[in-house]
Amino acid sequence: MIETPVVALTGAGISAESGVPTFRGAGGLWREFRPEDLATPEAFVRDPKLVWEWYAWRREVVAGCDPNAAHRVLVEMEEQLRRENFTLVTQNIDGLHEAAGSRNVLRLHGSLWSMRCTREGTRNSDRRVPLEEIPPRCSDCGALLRPDVVWFGETLDRDVLEAAIAASRRAKMMIVIGTSAAVQPAASLPLLAKRNGARLIEINPDETPLSADADEVLRGPAAVELPRWWALQAG
Ligand code: NAD
Repeated sequence: MIETPVVALTGAGISAESGVPTFRGAGGLWREFRPEDLATPEAFVRDPKLVWEWYAWRREVVAGCDPNAAHRVLVEMEEQLRRENFTLVTQNIDGLHEAAGSRNVLRLHGSLWSMRCTREGTRNSDRRVPLEEIPPRCSDCGALLRPDVVWFGETLDRDVLEAAIAASRRAKMMIVIGTSAAVQPAASLPLLAKRNGARLIEINPDETPLSADADEVLRGPAAVELPRWWALQAG
């Protein structure tokens, strides 16, 4: 039985079966670099071309991927529970929740499909694959553009984070899907929900630092476990 309000918190693992590599786990490496060494402001200052080559590669990978059954269940949940009863919070930047049809997505870490001018701070949606020039430049002022994502060491958008915290505090149920719970502050949201009385459900093939606090653990791939769990709630 679903207890509302519900919050779903997703991480890279929900997109794994769509073909998007996760950071941690097999297939997480690009060339010989670790994501932690590329997804930083320092890496961008040092070598914007290298960082953009990595993002251009990620855009190409994701452009060839479709949402999977787990993304689609979250669309159904949004449609069946009223808006005040369902919040989707994601750490993903791939846009697959939106591609599946989710309407209200709190994107904690930004989007692979948006760019920001490093001089003026203006944001533009950009879905070109492949990119014509690397690194891309602002068409207005010629300054470097950067991926409109939150890098390690950067702060999250305050409004988005506050909305995620408020929803987590209110939640009666939080489903945590495909995250290693290694990146803060996202990883603390389930604990906040739990402290406020929410039932915590984890879907992940592997154990995580959250597992011990979960009331229910579904050890398996999201595209199998989430539809199965949702069907049980409906029945
Ligand atoms: P992560 O890479 O740290 O962890 C992925 C988790 O998913 C692991 O715990 C793994 O066991 C689990 N997993 C693997 N296959 C799964 C499956 N089929 N079903 C369910 N779970 C599965 O990812 P994270 O916790 O989201 O990490 C942090 C950072 O990685 C975030 O900042 C996010 O922006 C970024 N990231 C995003 C994407 C994306 O947008 N798709 C991809 C890679 C990394």
